[in-house]
Amino acid sequence: MKKVLVLEDEDNIRSFVVINLKRAGYDTIEAASGEEALEKLKRNPDVKVALLDVMLPGIDGFEVCRRIRGTDSKIGIIMLTARSQEMDKVTGLMTGADDYVTKPFSPAELTARVDALYRRSGGDTSADNGEISQPPFLLNTRNRTLEKNGVRIKLTQVEYSVMKLFMDNPGKALSRDEILEAVWGRDYYGEVKIVDVNIRRLRIKVEDDPTSPTYITTVWGYGYKWGF
Ligand code: CA
Repeated sequence: MKKVLVLEDEDNIRSFVVINLKRAGYDTIEAASGEEALEKLKRNPDVKVALLDVMLPGIDGFEVCRRIRGTDSKIGIIMLTARSQEMDKVTGLMTGADDYVTKPFSPAELTARVDALYRRSGGDTSADNGEISQPPFLLNTRNRTLEKNGVRIKLTQVEYSVMKLFMDNPGKALSRDEILEAVWGRDYYGEVKIVDVNIRRLRIKVEDDPTSPTYITTVWGYGYKWGF
């Protein structure tokens, strides 16, 4: 079981994080204070990723991070920071965190970050668990298929590659050139319009209403974004 520690003193945020991680296939260990987190980590040495809130009663998230790093260099650490704490990001990374997520975050963004760190932390021995789950979508990377609400959507290989790129980068604006290079390759000689054509086709397949897309949105003058 893939174990993730969630340290957050606000019950509603902690539950939100836990529910979404469980949905993505993680086993979660919860802590409401830094002291509790350190105690639980000691009892669960197989935790591969820890999510640490910064503002806590008692010792803060940075101190927890510092103490974890004192004994464990391998565990992946993601700091949960508030928007007003821009400086915290720097401090957090200085104390040994691998990544940070700014509140408020989307479930898709959080899960993607945890997945990435989990893989980097060597927690996933199969290298790829074969699935990217972003409800209502489920991308199976082994047989290259996409499901929406459990129903298979037929995709071309290129459309699949575009979807994989999107689902690996939820909430991130991707330029048309970036998409072109990632999917068609650096040596592609055609026009960037091929991206638009494929997006138009993908929208017909994945959107509830292709004329007013909500999953694949346009970033005007730039490219596209996968997000909810
Ligand atoms: Ca807090």
